[in-house]
Amino acid sequence: MSSASPAPRSFIGCHALVWTGTFDAAGIRLSVEKTARAGFDLVEFPLMDPFTFDTAVAAASLAEHGLSASASLGLSPATDISSEDPEIVAAGEALLMRAVEIVGELGGTQLCGVIYSAMKKYMDPVTPKGLDNSITTIGRVADRAADLGLSLALEVVNRYETNILNTGRQALAYTDRVARPNVAVHLDSYHMNIEESDMYSPVLDCGDRLGYVHVGESHRGYLGTGNVDFDSYFKALARIGYQGTIVFESFSSAVVAPDLSRMLGIWRNLWQDNEELASNANDFIRGHLTAVKSIDLH
Ligand code: MN
Repeated sequence: MSSASPAPRSFIGCHALVWTGTFDAAGIRLSVEKTARAGFDLVEFPLMDPFTFDTAVAAASLAEHGLSASASLGLSPATDISSEDPEIVAAGEALLMRAVEIVGELGGTQLCGVIYSAMKKYMDPVTPKGLDNSITTIGRVADRAADLGLSLALEVVNRYETNILNTGRQALAYTDRVARPNVAVHLDSYHMNIEESDMYSPVLDCGDRLGYVHVGESHRGYLGTGNVDFDSYFKALARIGYQGTIVFESFSSAVVAPDLSRMLGIWRNLWQDNEELASNANDFIRGHLTAVKSIDLH
């Protein structure tokens, strides 16, 4: 197993659902403009339905504001590639192939998120056949991504959102089986805070196979107001020399994407002013990165 190729540049980004739950042309433009104005380098678009996403509008808006893009998604029960039903797996593969193309059309480099199963609360463990389907399909999508010069990052999420990858070590074992150099692990502090033993070890375990990072609070609200140990998280990122993308993620009932927000259980409003929230998050992430850089001097 060769290690995942590192992202070509380090970007600090913001998830577009901080701004809007509607990704029509107006929603795309709004999320790009607001992300740029808050000081970020990159916007992460949720591609819950890649077949309706207007890439021309997005590409023009990104160019206008000098912003980069990535994309993420969670598969649904109808597109669950860890299903034993070949038609459902094929539908999931078609959706992922289109999502990969969109990342390329936006000039991005990575597709991430829960792309290896549905994003939902499963009532049973994954079956061996379902896991094989997931790994085989991700391998094919990774090959298509490689043809386009892109990579995949598999997001480790908590037990209520998938039954396949709940810890960093599970993700490493899964990517070993996929055995493609452009498939990396995607860690998220919100999920790690639920499932991992600490905020440090999973980052070290992943090392150069860590390809994408989400920064989210324990309640998915304002950074610094929950119980995530961000000091350990950022120290660990510094310790492995992480140079990849880092994206702020926050969800509130104030901004709703019906499919995504419902699935994530976003029932409460945890912030009023998303401009202030995002601007603070940008400062928070960059401040932590600056602080941990000085560890080299210790
Ligand atoms: Mn996340």
